[in-house]
Amino acid sequence: MAHPQHAKLLAIALLVVAALPPCLQQSFHDIPLVSVQSGEDIPAEPLGKEGSAKQGFDVYHDYLVIGAGLVGAADGVYLERAGRDYLILERGMGAGTFYTQYPRHRKLISINKRNTGKTNKEFNMRHDWNSLLSDDDSLQLRHYSKEFFPPADILVQYLHDYATKLKLKVQYNTNVQGVSRVANHSAIAKHLFILRDQANRTYACQTLIVATGVWVPNVPKMQGLEHTVGYEDMSLDPEDYEGKTVLILGRGNSAFETADHIMHATNLIHMFARSRVRLSWATHYVGDLRAINNGLLDTYQLKSLDAVLEANVEKMRVVNVDGKLYLDVYDEDEDVPDGEDAESDSNIPPKIPTDNFAAREPYDIIIRALGFKFDDSIFDETTAVEMGRNRKKKYPTIKHNYESSNVPGMFFAGTCTHSLDFRKSAGGFIHGFRYTARAMFHLLEWRNHGVPWPSVSLPTTQLLSTIVKRLNEGSGFYQMFSVLGDVIILKNGGTSFVYLEEFPIRLLPALPKVAGHDGEQFIVVALEYGKNFSGPGKDIFRPDRATGDPSDAHNSNFLHPVFYHYDKLPTESDMLARPEKWILPRPTHLHHTVEDFLTSFTAPKSHILPIRRFLETSLDTDLRNFFAESCFKMALKHRSVPRECQEHYMQGQGLIPTVPILTHAVKSGLVM
Ligand SMILES: Cc1cc2nc3c(=O)[nH]c(=O)nc-3n(C[C@H](O)[C@H](O)[C@H](O)COP(=O)(O)OP(=O)(O)OC[C@H]3O[C@@H](n4cnc5c(N)ncnc54)[C@H](O)[C@@H]3O)c2cc1C
Repeated sequence: MAHPQHAKLLAIALLVVAALPPCLQQSFHDIPLVSVQSGEDIPAEPLGKEGSAKQGFDVYHDYLVIGAGLVGAADGVYLERAGRDYLILERGMGAGTFYTQYPRHRKLISINKRNTGKTNKEFNMRHDWNSLLSDDDSLQLRHYSKEFFPPADILVQYLHDYATKLKLKVQYNTNVQGVSRVANHSAIAKHLFILRDQANRTYACQTLIVATGVWVPNVPKMQGLEHTVGYEDMSLDPEDYEGKTVLILGRGNSAFETADHIMHATNLIHMFARSRVRLSWATHYVGDLRAINNGLLDTYQLKSLDAVLEANVEKMRVVNVDGKLYLDVYDEDEDVPDGEDAESDSNIPPKIPTDNFAAREPYDIIIRALGFKFDDSIFDETTAVEMGRNRKKKYPTIKHNYESSNVPGMFFAGTCTHSLDFRKSAGGFIHGFRYTARAMFHLLEWRNHGVPWPSVSLPTTQLLSTIVKRLNEGSGFYQMFSVLGDVIILKNGGTSFVYLEEFPIRLLPALPKVAGHDGEQFIVVALEYGKNFSGPGKDIFRPDRATGDPSDAHNSNFLHPVFYHYDKLPTESDMLARPEKWILPRPTHLHHTVEDFLTSFTAPKSHILPIRRFLETSLDTDLRNFFAESCFKMALKHRSVPRECQEHYMQGQGLIPTVPILTHAVKSGLVM
């Protein structure tokens, strides 16, 4: 006879199965009940769908997304469209809480370029840095503001509309305070995530998407910190800075944004930070100092009292003497007095500075604007995510499929994934992560539901025109240059191809495994800056900065297309051994298309002809298009005709040349 306890467990197990989604129910026999590994006080009770709260977890969804910021909303759209079972949990009262508070001085630094002279929506997204992706044309930021750098409140309104119009399933006022894992052998990652909110409600899911942003202020270990104020708390009233001498610690956009906002009122502003200023127009990195914020560089270089200096903030001490803030700066090998022996650090008088010490005059206000870091406090010991190191220590460590490096099934989206392209591409900003979020969704579709990465299949004769169209309008690989690229997979002995847009290039070796596509040969099309072009301090306006000669295309500096042809898929070892600064391993054939002043790669001889030659060499085929008459003549003279004639003329189709078309084609060098 079964032990009563066993009978109870069996009943519970049956309840579990009934409540699980079909994909989880398949291997019921594998379910050994939910075993709690977290050490957290989570009941070892069955899963319950929403409404069966008393049975255990209050809510179950296949996907839970933490955070309805920009990327949380974007993720919601993809999940909603695909009909997935998901819920977004947001601690704020509405979507886009970050932008209700930041940037403090309320001006976005992402551009709202409303006019490009073109009506192509995809092309226009190359220059609209704020809108999320959607099919609803009313959800473009151009309809919300005419300002090139719109106020932050506009984005809050926009996100509200986005979430409402697209009917996203968001539960507001839900602050996720704990995330743990419990074993479940039927789950894809062999565990479920259990989230707990401020009211101790529990939420279970298989796939967790963390989209919580990066906004815990970075507070340095610094003596006299209490005499400073953070960017997050500083007064926004210019009157408070009237006739004041101000020191700003930090060198990023928030530091410069602050300086711009108060400089009209202050006596002077000094800015101290460890590293030198990185100008985004020199580095092509949107997170570096943007021109919209760089007023203080003008007043510094045009000798108007403001100044910028390099110093390690953690080697400083602030001493308050009768309301005046003195700054001691120590060498890297010196210890900063910590005031432990004194009643307060202000009992240690400031050092007597050398007579020309830059900060020898005291300050009235010291503002810390030292950036933000990811909040990992919500994870317990079963989900503690690995954090990055050195420059990337503010981000969680993630794999190139956006999954945590140490917690399977936990994915990241939005600005917190920026470790993958930090100081390289735009993944930390709206115009970048709206595409990486979509890429992550496609990867999840294959991983969780067996839906391959979206693609089109076409005959190889259409390869050139497909590529040229993408080069001139595709937005995702334009914004996420060097990170996302189009992948072309040759099939059927090279007679047809499958085209995948905006695939994470770094995952190429794992393409069949992560995207569900395989083939014979592979071509990757990426947009790249010249390898030695960008960098802090580089003169990117130098006279020889551009080339127009196709034979010099490999020396192109500005953003230009680069093609990598592989006759077999590179391995992960190839990827790891790739040359320095290369985004991919050495290919079988490589082609750079020459940069273009108009970023329009449509010039017949300089752009299109070399691409065609590259494709023909790589694929060992003739990709020219022929008039019916030429096909006819070749069919009479040769055993076989070019592929294009086979597919059109020989099939009873074909373009009959008129005299003007023929004359134009000969003049432009397309036919002899
Ligand atoms: C000062 C500053 C200015 C910036 N300006 C720009 C700009 O102009 N343009 C631009 O493209 N980028 C800008 N950025 C980068 C910016 O971080 C991103 O654009 C954007 O905010 C990131 O979107 P996200 O969805 O990843 O995160 P967020 O916008 O931060 O969204 C995260 C969401 O998660 C919610 N959340 C967090 N923790 C929890 C929890 N435990 N439980 C429930 N909900 C939670 C938050 O309330 C929030 O709504 C700026 C960054 C800073 C620091």
